[in-house]
Amino acid sequence: MPLSGHDETHALLERAIAAEPSHFLRDGDVMAPGFDTALDELRRISTHTDEFLVDLERRERERTGIASLRLGFNRVQGFFIEIARSQAEHVPKDYIRRQTVKSAERFITAELKGFEDRVLGAREKSLARERELYEEILTALGAQVTSLQATAAALAQIDALASLAGRAAALEWVRPEFVEEPVLSISGGRHPVVERLAGQPFVPNDLELHAGRRMLVITGPNMGGKSTYMRQTALIAILAYIGSFVPAAAARIGPLDRIFTRIGAADDLAGGRSTFMVEMTETANILHSATARSLVLMDEIGRGTSTFDGLSLAWATARYLACRIGCFALFATHYFELTALPREAEGCANVHLDATEHGEQLVFLHAVKDGPANRSYGLQVAALAGVPREVIGEARARLEALEAERDGRRSPTAGPAAVQAELPLFAPSPAPRAGAPISAIEAELAAVDADALSPRAALELVYRLREKLSARD
Ligand code: ADP
Repeated sequence: MPLSGHDETHALLERAIAAEPSHFLRDGDVMAPGFDTALDELRRISTHTDEFLVDLERRERERTGIASLRLGFNRVQGFFIEIARSQAEHVPKDYIRRQTVKSAERFITAELKGFEDRVLGAREKSLARERELYEEILTALGAQVTSLQATAAALAQIDALASLAGRAAALEWVRPEFVEEPVLSISGGRHPVVERLAGQPFVPNDLELHAGRRMLVITGPNMGGKSTYMRQTALIAILAYIGSFVPAAAARIGPLDRIFTRIGAADDLAGGRSTFMVEMTETANILHSATARSLVLMDEIGRGTSTFDGLSLAWATARYLACRIGCFALFATHYFELTALPREAEGCANVHLDATEHGEQLVFLHAVKDGPANRSYGLQVAALAGVPREVIGEARARLEALEAERDGRRSPTAGPAAVQAELPLFAPSPAPRAGAPISAIEAELAAVDADALSPRAALELVYRLREKLSARD
């Protein structure tokens, strides 16, 4: 449909509708003054009441000699002349008593009644006239609806595209290249919002996904930039697909059917679902719905339950995405054990975000690098967040003890990567290493059917094992 300027409609609305109409037609003042003479006249009568009333009050005071005489109005009684009870006997004969209130009498006169009829009638008539005129305008506009909607849609489109073009020019975005093969290749990608609001220079990052490299396991400290990296990837894909330039130095993007995210830990307690339940419901939906052409973002799944539960779920979920679905996936996790996945699942790679310690300070580098992270900096981040020194100190001692215990069990020749591979949960072979005797405590633990334990039985088990442990020491 050819677009028109709607000059006539525009002129009609300018003439007919007040510059600042009231919100509801029932309040009046929607139609513009000067549009309809009958309406103007009715409004004049109903709005010039004040002058008339002031004049009448003055005249009645003079006529009756009662200085306290005053004019009033209420919704039930209408207009009245009020006189103090003490003065009531001085009222002229033509005053008609309307109501007695505490210490005063209220009267009406023929003149005031005539005025009231005119004013109240005029107000009602003016509102009715306004409704009538408004209906006429609607009818006139009705004939234009189709062409007005076409214009509105065109303007909306121009507005959206012009905004995207404006942002692209102002923020140095580039035109993405679309390709047929499965690829998501971004160089110098940025998060358009974090970049504006972070208050520090943004570190652009590359991303490379293709048929042979479909999943990135992303590790690194909290605050390292994992979520930002994942979200910027999704934003770049979405922007590209809606026809926008993207915040990157270059981007090549293949077919994507949907983007799935499992990000953030929103409770739905009112809906009766715990954080973990929400997390698992979303994960289930992703695992059921994602295809080989989807982009899936998983941020820290498995956090809401015990470590081994969470780790196992994260591991199995990542494997399912990588091996069964074969979608593009960014899998951020705080479980270092997951960095063993690329050795098992084809198409997976490790990347990490890093931080360095600078004196007492922890500096986040926000640069994505190949390979797994080797430290989590959890205590440093906690200190940064203001956790008391005493707590941090005790945590550090506990951590050192745990690490010493672990290192004691580790083969002296193995490097850090081997530690992860050797963790019992994901060791390629579940059989105990030759020569490593199993203690009674370990044997008891191995025999436990963890899923069948009630919380109470689990607690009792822990106490029992602790007792055995201290008896052994
Ligand atoms: P994580 O998910 O690893 O805990 P976030 O992605 O939430 O970390 O990032 C934490 C903060 O670090 C962000 O709020 C942002 O201010 C900053 N940040 C993240 N990525 C970058 C980046 N590439 N360049 C600059 N600052 C960044």
